[in-house]
Amino acid sequence: MSDMNPERSKGATALRGSPIGWALLACFALSMPLSPYVASAQRSSNVDNANEFYDSHFHLTNYIQEGIDIRAFLGIMGTRVERSTLFGIPLQQQWSYANSGDFAPTYYLQSDAPLYYYSFTDAYIASVYRSLSPAEQARFDPMITGFDPADMYGVDHIRRVLRIFPGVFTGIGEFSIHKEFVSAKVSGETASLTNPALDRILDFAAEAGLAVILHSDVDMPFARTDTEPVYLTQMKALLRRHPKASIIWAHVGLGRVVHPVQVSAEAAERSPNHVEIVEAMLTDPTLSRVNFDISWDEVAKYAVASPQSIARVAAMLNKYPDRFLFGTDTVAPAGPASYFAVFDMWAPVFSQLTADASFKVRKGNYERIFDAARQRVRAWERANVK
Ligand SMILES: [Zn+2]
Repeated sequence: MSDMNPERSKGATALRGSPIGWALLACFALSMPLSPYVASAQRSSNVDNANEFYDSHFHLTNYIQEGIDIRAFLGIMGTRVERSTLFGIPLQQQWSYANSGDFAPTYYLQSDAPLYYYSFTDAYIASVYRSLSPAEQARFDPMITGFDPADMYGVDHIRRVLRIFPGVFTGIGEFSIHKEFVSAKVSGETASLTNPALDRILDFAAEAGLAVILHSDVDMPFARTDTEPVYLTQMKALLRRHPKASIIWAHVGLGRVVHPVQVSAEAAERSPNHVEIVEAMLTDPTLSRVNFDISWDEVAKYAVASPQSIARVAAMLNKYPDRFLFGTDTVAPAGPASYFAVFDMWAPVFSQLTADASFKVRKGNYERIFDAARQRVRAWERANVK
């Protein structure tokens, strides 16, 4: 749920950055009959063409619970993406007449009215999944998101969804604890990494084998240079309390305005930068089950910001190839161009990866983590759903 803007503007931003993006936009401006499918196929020749990645982070619907048809998404995936996670967004932006009058907000920055948990999203995702053929279903890993992580009853919702829709879900998430501008807008108690309600959820995820995609910003927006990220200690403590849960920390803790930890030259000897913070987690035996997704164009922008950042990130992926998953984090994409734009942004990093690391980040780790979760959740269902 890392999205502030409608997908259209995200894709357009990413597209504008590349020469081919310019060409594409020019083609549309001239109304040339260029198929977007053909166009996107031409845009990624740097990686093996067929079956390029599995998408570990994909939202079918947006903040007002609208999205694209699953058949349209299958059309976008085509032969380039064999498998994908499948989830909506658990939060609904209220249309408050008192706040915005006749203007109907479609995302959370367009209104001061609160967001609230929209649990029906899970029934919707299950119904979409069940409308598919078995071969099509095999390509998706649906995720439960419609629970309140600040509610001690939140875990009961997850259990109930598994009982009512057995055979469907692989995991939970993406759900958010700390997320810039969003956390404070959610109705009810503000979520926290120290809330026992969250511990109950992660305990159950470990018991049932559910894969977990957790969004929690490592830091406050616009944090100062040379400061320890405010939520890092709590996050590591949470992860250590749940060593048996299969947790993917979304976006490596970053966001649009939650930038990588920055260290000045003077402080460089005592303060770790973001790559060093992540590396310390990767080598920590008490965090050995934690994985990281590098989804979201807002994360890609940091990775490809300079030749130095590209080299640093590529070196980290090459050194710890088993711990990172690519995902698009697109939200109800309008078409192939905006969907694949996020993947294409990573090309400078992927081109510096070993064949082994490239395969694992794009597909291998997805397969390992989500296949294991599928098997374990089906086993839990067999034992617990009558
Ligand atoms: Zn997301």
